[in-house]
Amino acid sequence: MMKIGNIYQQAKSEKRPVISLEIFPPKRPTGIETIFQTIDKLTAKPDFISVTYGAAGNTLRENKTLEIASRIKQDYGIEALHHLTAIMNSREEICRIIAEIKAAGIENILALRGDIPKGACDFPEDFQYAKDLIAEIARSNQFSIGAACYPEGHIDQKANRENIKHLLEKEQQGANFFISQLFFDNQAFYDLLDESRKARINVPIAAGIMPIMSVSQVEKMIFFGASLPVDLIKLIHRYQDTPEDLQKAGLEYSINQIDELIENGASGIHVYTMNRPIIANTIMDRYKAK
Ligand code: FAD
Repeated sequence: MMKIGNIYQQAKSEKRPVISLEIFPPKRPTGIETIFQTIDKLTAKPDFISVTYGAAGNTLRENKTLEIASRIKQDYGIEALHHLTAIMNSREEICRIIAEIKAAGIENILALRGDIPKGACDFPEDFQYAKDLIAEIARSNQFSIGAACYPEGHIDQKANRENIKHLLEKEQQGANFFISQLFFDNQAFYDLLDESRKARINVPIAAGIMPIMSVSQVEKMIFFGASLPVDLIKLIHRYQDTPEDLQKAGLEYSINQIDELIENGASGIHVYTMNRPIIANTIMDRYKAK
């Protein structure tokens, strides 16, 4: 097995994109088994699976991220990417968590600042930005480190473009690859790539894709700061009363996006599966099954 930074390098030499899936720890214990049943049934393995880390301030154990990531690696032989947010933690706490992740055999961390909880005013200032967490993880020299990027800017930023200076800082502190926030207009991603390369950011930047599955999901997504192209709005309008058709159209829209991104040489496609077997299966069948 290979660290994720090396997976991107190898895929580049093979002229293929890295295909990865993202899952989140389910609230109900039975949900965890559903995740593994889905992985059991996949027709092909993704290059890696990333597991999100819950709301800031939760403990490692409440989160279940490490438990799920370890099983993905040990039981399925699939490389796992452990997300980690730092904003609500002290340096001491974060160092302890990093040591636990290492002890469990996980070699890849997606280093995030995390969202600042509403109304929070008193929290440790050890990790103000993701770059501070990246620097801490890099000190151990034992992990491949990923970081987030935002084709249409981070929701807290006034500008509707990623601040490339902040991205460059993340690379300089030790990020080996980036995974983007979801977007529905590929041009936003191409613009981010262009600006990053001009600023001499050289590490791979994977495109984050989230298929639309329901109208309620669209309402929640407003807060990701992704713009909805008019074609997509029309699809949602057309199929809003027929959930199955909306799912089909949402998946088709994502597939068109991914096909075009791959045609244009994207180094990675990271799919937000929202723990939906239909998404994981469709993506693996189309892009990984031989
Ligand atoms: P940062 O890069 O630190 O950016 C935070 C804000 O600070 C941005 O507005 C940025 O522009 C600004 N900033 C950065 N550096 C500087 C600087 N030097 N000076 C001034 N301003 C600066 N959240 C979770 O809780 N759990 C997850 O598992 C999770 N997974 C994610 C996976 C991906 C691929 C993405 C894209 C996001 C994920 N998030 C997750 C959400 C993320 O935690 C939030 O978007 C969070 O608000 C920002 O995290 P960041 O790592 O991008 O922070």
